[in-house]
Amino acid sequence: MTDIKSLTLAELETALCAMGQPKYRALQIFRWLHGAGVGFEGMTNLPKALRESLEGEYFIRDVQIETKQVSKIDGTVKYLYRLYDGEYIESVFMRYKHGNTVCISTQAGCRMGCRFCASTLRGLKRNLSASEMLSQIQAAERDTGEKVGGVVLMGMGEPLDNYGNVLRFLTLVSDKNGIGLSHRHISLSTCGLVDNIRRLAGEKLQITLSVSLHAPNDELRRSIMPIANRYTVDELLDACREYEDATGRRISFEYALISGVTDTPSLADELGRRLKGTLCHVNLIPVNEIKERRYKSATRAAADAFVRRLAEYGITATVRRRLGADISAACGQLRDEHDAYTKEEG
Ligand code: SAH
Repeated sequence: MTDIKSLTLAELETALCAMGQPKYRALQIFRWLHGAGVGFEGMTNLPKALRESLEGEYFIRDVQIETKQVSKIDGTVKYLYRLYDGEYIESVFMRYKHGNTVCISTQAGCRMGCRFCASTLRGLKRNLSASEMLSQIQAAERDTGEKVGGVVLMGMGEPLDNYGNVLRFLTLVSDKNGIGLSHRHISLSTCGLVDNIRRLAGEKLQITLSVSLHAPNDELRRSIMPIANRYTVDELLDACREYEDATGRRISFEYALISGVTDTPSLADELGRRLKGTLCHVNLIPVNEIKERRYKSATRAAADAFVRRLAEYGITATVRRRLGADISAACGQLRDEHDAYTKEEG
């Protein structure tokens, strides 16, 4: 059995031709899969016999809403989705002035081990398929009745640790016959898998690359992000420059402000010196406190001072506005709460 929603239109055409079907059937099926999201029986413009043979050879992946929390402050919706095999992932639907954005997961769990992140606490369960990434967008659109205009790959998991499926997702999501999102409205966030950043640069896609830097030097970075033991900050910044040269896209650096750890004025200076002259934007994120870790969020004053110091080096930085502050905030928290809840129940 094959996951039909993960097939590109070209692959679907080949498959349908092999079944002795005319090519246009592939387009009809593709539109159903990426549009209304019906089962094979609901594909009313296909002959019954074809629907039955599809049923015998393919399955359609989807995600089910397990729980959902709606922010009373800004209407942000946080979903906990259940996958076909009982794993859970999270997704967040955010309303901005310029449109709706969905933050999707690329893996169930994560094996990167960043010390401040809740998604990685229990390791990696498995990679998500391209269809499961698409389904998170479709489910949010279905549930809210609103269109999604942007996607950020910043939920659970490390996208570049699931490279093949993420690339497939990027091809599928931008297909005009399907969801049809322009790559310019998609951001991919990585903790810095240097080899795969270079590989992605070679694909020359117009997506925005967000790099979770979080520290300006190797020593500090190693103390909060295990990936820093594999690649140095120098190697990471080199790969970022390569990405910029190949795509012409400005890199966005994420920098979590952890009180007394990453938010000091001297670290702002060090970061400013390192990034000076790079075409980039720095996103400062006051760390979301998770109960398993003792990290405390930086104060607003420390965050503002950090912005001002970076400006002295010609670096533009903004402090990320917190959407959905009243619902589980940091990555992986909702799944964790769900697990704790079901454990108590059991
Ligand atoms: N694995 C990818 C994408 C998922 S995490 C990555 O590392 O970039 C998305 C962003 O949220 C990353 O910048 C990550 O470092 C950050 N993040 C994770 N936990 C956080 C927390 N508790 N507070 C603030 N930012 C957090």
